[in-house]
Amino acid sequence: MTVWDQQRWPPITALLTSWLMPARTAERTNHVSLRSAYSIHWLAALLTVAAITVLVAWEEQLYLGTERDFMGQVARVIEDVLREFVRQPFMAMAVTVGIILWVEATFLGLAFLATPWGARDESMRASFKHALRRTWMQTPHVVVAVLLAGTCVVQIDTATSLWRREPVMRAVPQPSGPRSVNPEAWIRYDKELESAQEEFRHQFELRRQVRPWYVRYGEEMIAIACIAASVWFLVALARAVGAWRSVPPSDRPPTCESCGYNLIATAADARCPECGTPVAESLGPDVRPGLPWQSRRWGTYHVLWRNTALGTIRRPRQLGQRIQRFADPRHFRVFFLLHLPVVFVIAWAGILGCYAAQTGRNPFVREPEVAWALAPAVGGFAIAIDLMLVMCTTWLLSLSHRLQGIRNLMPLAMQVAAYMCGYLVLFFGFVATLGVLAFALKDLWKEIGRTSNLGAASVGFLFWLIPTVIGIVGYVSLVRRGVSTARYANR
Ligand SMILES: [Zn+2]
Repeated sequence: MTVWDQQRWPPITALLTSWLMPARTAERTNHVSLRSAYSIHWLAALLTVAAITVLVAWEEQLYLGTERDFMGQVARVIEDVLREFVRQPFMAMAVTVGIILWVEATFLGLAFLATPWGARDESMRASFKHALRRTWMQTPHVVVAVLLAGTCVVQIDTATSLWRREPVMRAVPQPSGPRSVNPEAWIRYDKELESAQEEFRHQFELRRQVRPWYVRYGEEMIAIACIAASVWFLVALARAVGAWRSVPPSDRPPTCESCGYNLIATAADARCPECGTPVAESLGPDVRPGLPWQSRRWGTYHVLWRNTALGTIRRPRQLGQRIQRFADPRHFRVFFLLHLPVVFVIAWAGILGCYAAQTGRNPFVREPEVAWALAPAVGGFAIAIDLMLVMCTTWLLSLSHRLQGIRNLMPLAMQVAAYMCGYLVLFFGFVATLGVLAFALKDLWKEIGRTSNLGAASVGFLFWLIPTVIGIVGYVSLVRRGVSTARYANR
C-alpha cells in the first residue's frame, strides 16, 4: 500500500471539495467506482434543482415584497410545479424526462471531450472511464456555480423590474377623436396626436437617460456572470481530469521508430531487420529530445511560444520526432491554455467587426449590449468550438490508429494537437476576417445572388463556410502528420 492509497477520501467529500480544490479531490477519489460517482452526480443534480427553486422563491419574494416567510415562498414555488404535473401530467413528464436526458447527454459529452486531456499510457476505455468519473464527481461544482451566478441574476432582475414598475413617467393624455366628419377637426386631431406622440418619445428618452447602472448594463452583467461561472466549472473539470494519478506501467517492448518492429533481440549497433533503419535512431540517447518549450524559463515564454507555434505549423513531422511519450503533461497544457484568451479576443473583435460592417456603427456607442454581452458570449462560444475541434481531432486520430492495429496513441495525439494550437490562432483570425468581409461585401453577394438562383445571404454564408471547412481539414491533417511520425515512439 502506497502513501497515496492511504489518503483516500470517501466519494461524498466531493460535495464540499470538488469546487474548492478539484485537482486534490481528484487525486484522493480516483479509486471511486463509476457507480458511486454516478450517485454523487445525481445527488448534486437534485441539489442543483433545490438551488434553482430557492433562487426562484427568493426572486419572487424580493419582487413581491410579500409578508410570507421565505419557506412559505419556497413551498409556493414547489406547489406551482406540482400543479403543472396535475394539470398536464403528460406534458410535465415529457419536459422532465427531456431535461434529464439533456443533462445526462451533456455530461457524457463533457466526459468524451475531456478524455484526451487526462489520457495516459493505458487503454482508451480506461481514459474514458477516468474522464467520466471525474465529470460526474465534478457535478457538485454546478450547485455552487448556479448559486453564485443565480444570485447575480436575481439581484439584477429584481432591481430592474422594481425600477421598471415605478410610475416615474408622466402620463401623456391621448387626444380624443373628433365626432364629426369635419375635415378641419380631423386635421386638428392629427396634430394633437402627433404632439402627444412627440411628448411620449420625449418622456421615454428622459426616462432612458436616468436609468440606473443595473438597468443599463443588466444584460451584460448577467451574460458575463454566466460565462464566468461556466469557465470556472470547465477549468475545474480540466484540473480534475488532468490531475496526477497512478497508471500501471506498460510492459511494451522497444520497437523500431519507423516500422514498429520489435527490437528486443536486436543489438544496439545493428539495423532493424524489417526496414533497415539503424537501431540507434529508435533507441539511441539523442532520440526524442523533447521540445525547447519544455525547458522554458520565466522571461522566455513569448519567444518559445511563438517559435514552437510557428515551427510546429511549418514542420509537423519534426514535432512528431521530438515529442516525448512520458513528458510532464503540464508542458503541453500550459502551452495550450495560453492560446485560449487569444481565441476569445479574436472572436470578440470579429463580432464587433461584423456588426460595424453590417450597420456602419460603432457598437460600443450605439449598442453596448452587443459589445459587452453578445460579443464576449461569442468569444466563449469560440473557445468551446476550439476545444471541441482539438478534442475531436485527438479522438479521431487515436481511434483511426487503433483501428489499424497500432497501440493507443491518445496521450501522444493530445500533445501534438495541443502544440499545434498556433495554427488555431491563425485559423480563428482567418475565420473572423472572412466573417467581417462576408458582411462588408453584401452588395457583391446581392449581385451574385441575382445571377445565380442562390439568395444573397446564402452566397455570403458559403463565402465564409467553404474556407472555414478547409481550415478545419488543414488542422486535422497537420496533427495527423505529427501523430503518425510519433506512432512508434519508445520514450
Ligand atoms: Zn524498422
